[in-house]
Amino acid sequence: MTTTEPRMPSATIEMEQVTPNVFTNTKLRGCNPSFVVTSDGVVVIDTPQLPTRAVAMRAEAEKHGPIRYLINTENHVDHIFGNYWFRGAGEVVNHKALWDIFMDPKAALDPFAYALEAVPTDDPEAGPLIPDRDEYYADLPRGTIVFTGDLLKLRVGDHTIDCHWTPGHTPGQLAVHVPEERVVFTGDTIFSGVQTWLMTSNVDQWLEALETIRALDVDYVVPGHGPVVGLEYIQTQRAHLMAWKAAVADAVAKGWSREETIARVRFDDAFGPVDVGQGYMMDHIQNNNAGSLWDKLTATGYSKGR
Ligand SMILES: [Zn+2]
Repeated sequence: MTTTEPRMPSATIEMEQVTPNVFTNTKLRGCNPSFVVTSDGVVVIDTPQLPTRAVAMRAEAEKHGPIRYLINTENHVDHIFGNYWFRGAGEVVNHKALWDIFMDPKAALDPFAYALEAVPTDDPEAGPLIPDRDEYYADLPRGTIVFTGDLLKLRVGDHTIDCHWTPGHTPGQLAVHVPEERVVFTGDTIFSGVQTWLMTSNVDQWLEALETIRALDVDYVVPGHGPVVGLEYIQTQRAHLMAWKAAVADAVAKGWSREETIARVRFDDAFGPVDVGQGYMMDHIQNNNAGSLWDKLTATGYSKGR
């Protein structure tokens, strides 16, 4: 090492063991990044948004064997930004509808800048790990196994990894079911105990996605955000989605404008806090949940599922 080279930061990550072979972390800023250990290597589900934790989780996973697959459950940055620090770690599995908008340049929040907003407060040591924008995009792992349709079945060692397409929260949403562990990783189809972000969503499809998950024979639901729960939490998630949609539909029926709807339809106190580190986004969530639903419920053709 020369003196001009920055010292690479190292951080540890404490993984929560859900079953003998399933590990997650529900306490970090970002999504709940997870992995499954099989007799033939490791399957990673979503990557930490914080660079030092991405490096640390990769090291933790690789203690159990080589990483065979990295599956992303959706295109939001809190689930994919950390892919950069998993370069060369197995095949990346994306649904085609996710792949099409991976690091979406048309997103309301610039994905690269938005992901890095977390660094000063939550990962201040990460600086030397972060490439510039062009370097990041040039080398960012995205889907190498890209599928269409409802189900991709992987067989890895003694484990089955079923990737169910569950659009709703985002168009390319996946739920990853591992029957041998009686676990499903739902991504943001479930936000347990924290505010639900629905501004890029189709709520009707999302309600169907919850039914797809409810039909699985599992004991553990690893959500996109919040603590691990059981299948019974699906009732709560459904209630939150229905409450949002009903309240905005009611506002539209009363003739409220978009502005009035945003001002008056709020669930700040009803559905829990915002997930770790993002309390400052409460207004963003409330305003954009209400505004996006108002847009959809006042648009012609909504009943056709758009
Ligand atoms: Zn998320």
